[in-house]
Amino acid sequence: MEKNGQRHRRRLVLLPCPFQGHINPMLQLGSFLHSKGFSITVIHCKFNSPNPSNHPSFEFIPFKDGLSGDDISSGDLVRIIQVANVGCKSHLHECLSQIMTQRRGGQNDDVACIIHDELMYISQAVANSLKLPSIVLRTTSAATFLARTAILTLKAEGYIPFQDSASQDPVPGLHLLRFKDLPVPRSKTLRGFEQIVVDSYNIGTSSAIVWNTMESLELSLLEQIQQQCQVPVLPVGPVHKFAPASYSSSLLEEDTSCMSWLGKQTKNSVIYVSMGSIASMDEKELVELAWGLANSQQPFLWVIRPGSNSYGSDQWIEELPKVLRETLGEKGCIVKWAPQKEVLAHSAVGGFLSHCGWNSTLESICEGVPMICRPSFGDQKVNARYLSHVWRVGLELEELERGQIERAVRKLMVDKEGEAVRESANNLKGKVELCIRAGGSSDDSLNRLVDMIMSF
Ligand code: UDP
Repeated sequence: MEKNGQRHRRRLVLLPCPFQGHINPMLQLGSFLHSKGFSITVIHCKFNSPNPSNHPSFEFIPFKDGLSGDDISSGDLVRIIQVANVGCKSHLHECLSQIMTQRRGGQNDDVACIIHDELMYISQAVANSLKLPSIVLRTTSAATFLARTAILTLKAEGYIPFQDSASQDPVPGLHLLRFKDLPVPRSKTLRGFEQIVVDSYNIGTSSAIVWNTMESLELSLLEQIQQQCQVPVLPVGPVHKFAPASYSSSLLEEDTSCMSWLGKQTKNSVIYVSMGSIASMDEKELVELAWGLANSQQPFLWVIRPGSNSYGSDQWIEELPKVLRETLGEKGCIVKWAPQKEVLAHSAVGGFLSHCGWNSTLESICEGVPMICRPSFGDQKVNARYLSHVWRVGLELEELERGQIERAVRKLMVDKEGEAVRESANNLKGKVELCIRAGGSSDDSLNRLVDMIMSF
């Protein structure tokens, strides 16, 4: 980059929200922007710090996030987000102004702007007070964005909380979603959640919204949002496809041994099972899932994250009944954490039983892998509904019950009945490729983003 006649590297400050599903797209975006010549500084909460050694070309600066051990161990995402925003404000100000002063103080770069996760909304006010341009990164789908807004309206109109009897009813104004698909938090109470929606949706002084979604999935929703929005809405997804394939921002160590196991399986035969970085299941569900997989007779690769079941973080599959462990051992491979993008891209993988987090959804769609949708809470429910009823690349799983799981796996992977969903997944992969290729809508949005940053 040339500025004032000399080679000039402009610096971007990135601020992710401290959860795996938010850190990944932010650092993937950073990796793309670095490839375009920007220097990258990641400022981050101490909680769930990214591993700097995975990103040698980035600078990492932790700031005090104000989160106590109790906040973190509560597992209450709403509380963690609110405390982090309140608790970090002054430290964030100090951290950002130091970065800006240092850079002005003679180094051969300057800070062009901050790109922050939508849930780290406090950054906007801080950046504004320092006269630093800011850009928001949204890490869930456009459909989730609209459904969250709808929750506020529905609550004001007395529809929420809804009765169990209404759970299958369509949501007024959002006909694709039923009440049970609304992206309510795990706690089910809306205390704190509503305020987060308001704060993270207020884009105030931001210069643009970068969105990890794509036109081939959500064009009409994105158009609707753009109409209500004064600044450019830039769909740049799936952003992981613009970072090197081997790029990893995992907080947990990936067990790569499963790749050689996959190498021994036949094409499209393996069902991959993972519930992401936060969702958990109780003991009964874990055992039902194990029997369902064993009975399906399909080889499987199953991620059982330590702490993701009621056995507690120190106990793992050792706690599964012995007979079941032996049965599972013959048919599958169980790991604590997998290199998921590589797994989904492997030719042996023919299906994904997922909690439908947005990153997992995009990663699966990109590889043309059809899904069994078992959402737990929040945006996962919206994604599951879109996967099964809009994009038609997923099968809905009502319950984690062994018979249902066995039937769903066989339908998705082998039965004739599942052909349509397998075909749709393959077709959708092709549409996504059109967005990513040179001149495609996501590629175009990324170029607009680079131009905008250069104009600051
Ligand atoms: N992931 C991974 N290995 C695993 C399971 C998940 O690398 O064994 C990654 C996955 O590729 C995705 C992220 O963790 O990028 C999970 O994000 P997602 O939005 O799907 O769900 P969340 O964890 O936020 O619920």
